[in-house]
Amino acid sequence: MLAKQRPLDQAEEAATEAAALEASQGYLEPIEIIERAAAHDFAGALAAVSSFGADSAVLLHMISKVDPSLPVAFLDTGKHFGETLDYRDALVADFALRDIRIISPEENALARVDPDGTLHARDTNACCDVRKVEPMARAVAPFRAWLTGRKRFQAATRKNLAVYEPVGPRIRINPLARWTTADLAEYMRRHALRQNPLVAYGYLSIGCFPCTQPVKPGEDARSGRWAGQAKTECGIHLSGLEQSLTDASL
Ligand code: SF4
Repeated sequence: MLAKQRPLDQAEEAATEAAALEASQGYLEPIEIIERAAAHDFAGALAAVSSFGADSAVLLHMISKVDPSLPVAFLDTGKHFGETLDYRDALVADFALRDIRIISPEENALARVDPDGTLHARDTNACCDVRKVEPMARAVAPFRAWLTGRKRFQAATRKNLAVYEPVGPRIRINPLARWTTADLAEYMRRHALRQNPLVAYGYLSIGCFPCTQPVKPGEDARSGRWAGQAKTECGIHLSGLEQSLTDASL
Protein backbone atom coordinates (compact mmCIF):
# COMPACT_ATOMS: atom_id res chain seq x y z
CA MET A 1 0.00 0.00 0.00
CA LEU A 2 1.33 3.46 -0.88
CA ALA A 3 2.16 5.69 2.08
CA LYS A 4 -0.19 8.67 2.34
CA GLN A 5 1.63 11.82 1.20
CA ARG A 6 2.14 14.56 3.77
CA PRO A 7 0.78 17.93 2.54
CA LEU A 8 3.52 20.46 1.77
CA ASP A 9 4.01 23.09 4.45
CA GLN A 10 4.25 26.75 3.42
CA ALA A 11 8.05 26.80 3.36
CA GLU A 12 8.11 23.75 1.11
CA GLU A 13 5.50 25.33 -1.15
CA ALA A 14 7.62 28.49 -1.40
CA ALA A 15 10.70 26.42 -2.26
CA THR A 16 8.80 24.59 -5.00
CA GLU A 17 7.39 27.85 -6.35
CA ALA A 18 10.80 29.57 -6.34
CA ALA A 19 12.40 26.65 -8.20
CA ALA A 20 9.62 26.68 -10.81
CA LEU A 21 9.94 30.45 -11.34
CA GLU A 22 13.72 30.17 -11.58
CA ALA A 23 13.42 27.50 -14.28
CA SER A 24 10.69 29.22 -16.28
CA GLN A 25 11.76 32.88 -16.12
CA GLY A 26 15.00 33.27 -14.17
CA TYR A 27 16.71 33.99 -17.49
CA LEU A 28 14.58 37.08 -18.28
CA GLU A 29 15.85 40.65 -18.26
CA PRO A 30 15.60 42.32 -14.84
CA ILE A 31 12.81 44.68 -15.85
CA GLU A 32 10.76 41.79 -17.22
CA ILE A 33 11.21 39.93 -13.93
CA ILE A 34 9.98 43.00 -12.04
CA GLU A 35 7.04 43.45 -14.44
CA ARG A 36 5.93 39.84 -14.06
CA ALA A 37 6.30 39.92 -10.29
CA ALA A 38 4.30 43.15 -9.98
CA ALA A 39 1.58 42.39 -12.53
CA HIS A 40 1.26 38.65 -12.33
CA ASP A 41 3.31 36.43 -10.03
CA PHE A 42 2.85 38.46 -6.84
CA ALA A 43 0.41 41.20 -7.88
CA GLY A 44 -0.71 43.19 -4.84
CA ALA A 45 1.61 41.24 -2.55
CA LEU A 46 5.01 42.52 -3.68
CA ALA A 47 7.41 45.03 -2.12
CA ALA A 48 11.05 46.01 -2.58
CA VAL A 49 13.79 46.54 -0.04
CA SER A 50 16.53 49.05 -0.72
CA SER A 51 19.60 50.17 1.20
CA PHE A 52 19.95 53.24 -1.05
CA GLY A 53 23.57 52.18 -1.32
CA ALA A 54 26.13 52.06 -4.12
CA ASP A 55 24.01 50.45 -6.89
CA SER A 56 20.51 50.98 -5.54
CA ALA A 57 19.52 53.51 -8.19
CA VAL A 58 19.36 50.80 -10.88
CA LEU A 59 16.69 48.63 -9.25
CA LEU A 60 14.74 51.67 -8.02
CA HIS A 61 14.75 53.22 -11.49
CA MET A 62 13.37 49.99 -12.97
CA ILE A 63 10.70 49.86 -10.25
CA SER A 64 9.71 53.44 -11.04
CA LYS A 65 9.18 52.45 -14.69
CA VAL A 66 7.04 49.43 -13.76
CA ASP A 67 5.06 50.81 -10.80
CA PRO A 68 6.22 53.85 -8.80
CA SER A 69 3.60 53.04 -6.15
CA LEU A 70 5.23 49.73 -5.26
CA PRO A 71 6.10 49.72 -1.54
CA VAL A 72 9.85 50.22 -0.99
CA ALA A 73 11.17 49.51 2.50
CA PHE A 74 14.28 51.20 3.88
CA LEU A 75 15.72 49.92 7.15
CA ASP A 76 16.76 52.96 9.13
CA THR A 77 19.23 51.31 11.50
CA GLY A 78 20.10 54.62 13.16
CA LYS A 79 23.69 54.10 12.00
CA HIS A 80 23.53 55.14 8.36
CA PHE A 81 25.84 57.72 6.81
CA GLY A 82 24.16 61.09 6.46
CA GLU A 83 25.03 60.89 2.75
CA THR A 84 22.90 57.76 2.40
CA LEU A 85 19.88 59.42 3.98
CA ASP A 86 20.25 62.43 1.69
CA TYR A 87 20.70 60.11 -1.30
CA ARG A 88 17.52 58.21 -0.34
CA ASP A 89 15.52 61.44 -0.35
CA ALA A 90 17.03 62.56 -3.65
CA LEU A 91 16.31 59.25 -5.43
CA VAL A 92 12.75 59.14 -4.11
CA ALA A 93 12.24 62.59 -5.65
CA ASP A 94 14.08 61.71 -8.90
CA PHE A 95 11.94 58.62 -9.47
CA ALA A 96 8.69 59.92 -7.93
CA LEU A 97 8.45 56.81 -5.77
CA ARG A 98 5.19 57.00 -3.86
CA ASP A 99 5.36 54.44 -1.07
CA ILE A 100 8.65 54.57 0.84
CA ARG A 101 8.36 52.78 4.17
CA ILE A 102 11.03 53.69 6.69
CA ILE A 103 11.38 50.84 9.17
CA SER A 104 13.22 51.48 12.44
CA PRO A 105 14.40 49.17 15.21
CA GLU A 106 11.97 48.61 18.09
CA GLU A 107 12.59 51.28 20.73
CA ASN A 108 12.14 48.91 23.66
CA ALA A 109 14.53 46.36 22.18
CA LEU A 110 17.14 49.06 21.52
CA ALA A 111 16.80 50.40 25.06
CA ARG A 112 17.30 46.90 26.39
CA VAL A 113 20.26 45.65 24.32
CA ASP A 114 21.93 48.80 22.99
CA PRO A 115 21.07 51.68 25.32
CA ASP A 116 24.22 53.67 24.53
CA GLY A 117 24.41 52.81 20.82
CA THR A 118 27.77 51.02 21.07
CA LEU A 119 26.65 47.41 20.69
CA HIS A 120 28.23 47.29 17.21
CA ALA A 121 31.66 47.61 18.83
CA ARG A 122 31.08 44.58 21.09
CA ASP A 123 28.77 42.24 19.18
CA THR A 124 27.98 42.95 15.55
CA ASN A 125 25.62 39.98 15.25
CA ALA A 126 23.50 41.16 18.16
CA CYS A 127 23.55 44.70 16.79
CA CYS A 128 22.45 43.53 13.31
CA ASP A 129 19.73 41.39 14.89
CA VAL A 130 18.11 44.33 16.67
CA ARG A 131 18.78 46.99 14.04
CA LYS A 132 18.28 44.97 10.83
CA VAL A 133 16.96 41.42 11.09
CA GLU A 134 13.92 42.03 13.27
CA PRO A 135 12.96 45.25 11.41
CA MET A 136 13.42 43.46 8.08
CA ALA A 137 11.10 40.66 9.16
CA ARG A 138 8.53 43.31 10.11
CA ALA A 139 9.03 45.12 6.79
CA VAL A 140 8.39 42.12 4.56
CA ALA A 141 5.84 40.31 6.72
CA PRO A 142 2.81 41.85 4.92
CA PHE A 143 4.02 40.63 1.51
CA ARG A 144 4.42 37.33 -0.29
CA ALA A 145 7.58 38.40 -2.10
CA TRP A 146 10.09 41.22 -2.18
CA LEU A 147 12.66 42.55 -4.63
CA THR A 148 16.29 43.17 -3.73
CA GLY A 149 19.25 44.60 -5.63
CA ARG A 150 21.68 41.77 -4.77
CA LYS A 151 24.17 40.63 -7.41
CA ARG A 152 26.41 37.58 -7.81
CA PHE A 153 29.58 39.59 -8.37
CA GLN A 154 29.35 41.38 -5.02
CA ALA A 155 31.00 38.62 -3.00
CA ALA A 156 32.19 35.03 -3.20
CA THR A 157 29.27 34.13 -0.91
CA ARG A 158 26.82 35.35 -3.57
CA LYS A 159 28.35 33.70 -6.65
CA ASN A 160 25.49 31.20 -7.03
CA LEU A 161 22.72 33.64 -6.16
CA ALA A 162 19.39 32.65 -7.72
CA VAL A 163 16.88 35.16 -9.03
CA TYR A 164 14.09 33.51 -7.03
CA GLU A 165 14.91 32.36 -3.50
CA PRO A 166 12.58 30.88 -0.89
CA VAL A 167 12.82 32.53 2.52
CA GLY A 168 10.65 30.57 4.90
CA PRO A 169 7.13 30.84 3.48
CA ARG A 170 7.99 33.80 1.21
CA ILE A 171 10.06 34.47 -1.91
CA ARG A 172 12.91 36.92 -2.35
CA ILE A 173 13.52 38.09 -5.91
CA ASN A 174 16.93 39.28 -7.08
CA PRO A 175 16.27 40.57 -10.64
CA LEU A 176 19.86 41.85 -11.02
CA ALA A 177 21.54 38.64 -9.82
CA ARG A 178 23.38 38.04 -13.10
CA TRP A 179 24.33 41.65 -13.80
CA THR A 180 27.96 42.72 -13.71
CA THR A 181 29.56 45.97 -12.62
CA ALA A 182 29.78 46.92 -16.29
CA ASP A 183 26.04 46.28 -16.80
CA LEU A 184 25.23 48.49 -13.82
CA ALA A 185 27.59 51.25 -14.92
CA GLU A 186 26.14 51.21 -18.42
CA TYR A 187 22.57 51.41 -17.07
CA MET A 188 23.51 54.27 -14.72
CA ARG A 189 25.15 56.14 -17.59
CA ARG A 190 22.35 55.52 -20.11
CA HIS A 191 19.70 56.79 -17.74
CA ALA A 192 21.88 59.51 -16.15
CA LEU A 193 21.18 58.17 -12.68
CA ARG A 194 22.43 59.92 -9.56
CA GLN A 195 25.17 58.06 -7.68
CA ASN A 196 25.57 57.71 -3.93
CA PRO A 197 28.33 60.28 -3.19
CA LEU A 198 30.22 57.77 -1.04
CA VAL A 199 31.09 55.71 -4.14
CA ALA A 200 33.53 58.42 -5.19
CA TYR A 201 35.43 57.74 -1.95
CA GLY A 202 35.78 54.00 -2.63
CA TYR A 203 32.72 52.75 -0.77
CA LEU A 204 31.46 50.09 -3.20
CA SER A 205 29.01 48.49 -0.77
CA ILE A 206 27.45 50.85 1.73
CA GLY A 207 25.88 49.95 5.04
CA CYS A 208 26.11 51.44 8.53
CA PHE A 209 28.99 53.87 9.09
CA PRO A 210 30.64 51.96 11.98
CA CYS A 211 30.88 48.79 9.87
CA THR A 212 31.69 50.09 6.37
CA GLN A 213 35.07 50.96 4.90
CA PRO A 214 36.25 51.89 1.41
CA VAL A 215 37.33 48.97 -0.77
CA LYS A 216 40.79 48.55 -2.28
CA PRO A 217 41.13 48.01 -6.06
CA GLY A 218 40.53 44.36 -7.00
CA GLU A 219 38.74 43.42 -3.77
CA ASP A 220 35.15 42.14 -3.51
CA ALA A 221 32.71 45.02 -3.46
CA ARG A 222 31.52 43.84 -0.04
CA SER A 223 34.99 43.40 1.49
CA GLY A 224 34.62 46.78 3.17
CA ARG A 225 31.67 45.53 5.22
CA TRP A 226 32.68 44.33 8.71
CA ALA A 227 36.30 44.40 7.47
CA GLY A 228 38.60 42.24 9.60
CA GLN A 229 35.72 40.05 10.81
CA ALA A 230 34.45 36.69 9.56
CA LYS A 231 31.00 38.28 9.22
CA THR A 232 29.95 38.93 5.61
CA GLU A 233 26.18 39.43 5.85
CA CYS A 234 24.05 41.25 8.38
CA GLY A 235 21.56 38.41 8.66
CA ILE A 236 18.71 39.89 6.64
CA HIS A 237 19.72 37.55 3.83
CA LEU A 238 20.46 34.56 6.06
CA SER A 239 18.53 32.07 8.13
CA GLY A 240 17.81 34.55 10.94
CA LEU A 241 15.28 36.29 8.74
CA GLU A 242 13.81 32.99 7.59
CA GLN A 243 13.34 31.99 11.22
CA SER A 244 11.83 35.37 12.10
CA LEU A 245 9.35 35.14 9.25
CA THR A 246 8.44 31.57 10.04
CA ASP A 247 7.92 32.38 13.72
CA ALA A 248 6.34 35.78 13.58
CA SER A 249 4.37 36.47 10.49
CA LEU A 250 2.05 33.59 9.72
S1 SF4 B 1 26.03 46.92 10.24
FE1 SF4 B 1 27.11 47.45 12.16
S2 SF4 B 1 26.02 49.23 13.03
FE2 SF4 B 1 24.71 48.35 11.40
S3 SF4 B 1 23.31 47.01 12.46
FE3 SF4 B 1 25.04 45.71 11.82
S4 SF4 B 1 26.57 45.77 13.50
FE4 SF4 B 1 25.05 47.40 13.86
